Amino acid sequence: MTGGPAADEDLPMRTEGQRVRTSKRVENVTYAVREVVDLAHQAAAAGRDMIYLNIGDPCQFDFRTPEVVVDAIVRALADGKTGYAPSDGVPEALQAIRRDAEVRKGIRSVRHVLIGNGASEPIEILLTALVDPGESVLIPSPGYPLYSAILAKIGARAVSYDLDEDAGWQPDPQQIARLADGTTRAVVLIHPNNPTGSVASRATLESVLEVAASRRLVVLSDEIYDRMLLDPVEFVSTASLRDDVPIATFGGLSKVWLGPGLRMGWSILSGPAVAVEPLHEAMMRLARARLSASHPVQWAIRPALEEAHTHIDDVNARLRSRRDLLVRELERIPGWSLVPPRAAFYAFPRVEIGVDDETLVRELILEHGVVLVHGSGFGQLPGTNHARIVFLPPDELIAEACRRLADYSAGRG
Ligand code: PLP
Repeated sequence: MTGGPAADEDLPMRTEGQRVRTSKRVENVTYAVREVVDLAHQAAAAGRDMIYLNIGDPCQFDFRTPEVVVDAIVRALADGKTGYAPSDGVPEALQAIRRDAEVRKGIRSVRHVLIGNGASEPIEILLTALVDPGESVLIPSPGYPLYSAILAKIGARAVSYDLDEDAGWQPDPQQIARLADGTTRAVVLIHPNNPTGSVASRATLESVLEVAASRRLVVLSDEIYDRMLLDPVEFVSTASLRDDVPIATFGGLSKVWLGPGLRMGWSILSGPAVAVEPLHEAMMRLARARLSASHPVQWAIRPALEEAHTHIDDVNARLRSRRDLLVRELERIPGWSLVPPRAAFYAFPRVEIGVDDETLVRELILEHGVVLVHGSGFGQLPGTNHARIVFLPPDELIAEACRRLADYSAGRG
């Protein structure tokens, strides 16, 4: 054999301490939410009392997964549901997701549902099935960093469109139209949005869908926070507005059902059957190759969607009061300003105290023990500085964190 890579025995032995060469693909994969944790652990090891406001995990605080969900998983385990599941998901769960999509979310043209390990997996499966290396996807800035991480991994380009802070963080459909070119395959909506807590209006969604229809883009609508509404704001599921555009709607048990560690989510493909079918087939190739999502946890999906409703009002009431406290406290700190979040459990204040966002986050962790995530980890307009604050913790912790933010800001003034 000539021209191929050298056989192992031809290579010099790896000397002790020699580093393994890793793939170029992962060099641009970043995920700010967990990357601040190493620094926080250093501060904790040095004896600092830490307040973690960096990760959107309700179970770290006083929220518990509803009993019906936990009981259904325990029952499934006891019933021996520990073999592989079908690659798309167990029929009972698939039907429940479809019913919920049609009846509650108002999506009329549901074609296929795929259950995955968290919403993250179907999002990755969809982007991998849809986008070739070199092609691009429009993603919101600021926005949850999973999308840019997956696109980096598959060799595709993430092109950011801005959410307008002065317009309550709404997307600008005209900018989306301007950015879409011959390489663009899809536009991502995160609705309600992480990290801003904004909810896209019906008019905005209609305009984005018009752009998608005219440019033949697939729409990804990440609606994992769809029932965590803190104001009497209208929430419209993107796919309920049009049947002639291929749309993937994402949901899961991580947020509304307070179970991020269950790793259970789904995608709902809707739109014209002819358009959607090849995408579904490509997704199923990938889904089959990874066998199935966790089997016992899928048995919690129908009970979650159909029986576990009462906790949602209680969760939203607690989040509303924590949001209000955070907004009140931040308003009192010079240099901090905030578009009040209307959904989910994140605030994304703008910070104008003469320090860039990465320095702000590093110093807050090391000197004050408050763990936030820098705005650039989600995307922000050049020249602006933001930080994401999770307002899941009880009042005492939010108030204490705000005291420390005020001390830090005063120290810099
Ligand atoms: N989409 C958004 C907008 C999120 O904020 C998150 C998690 O924070 C996810 C998806 C990931 O969801 P899952 O835990 O179900 O993988």
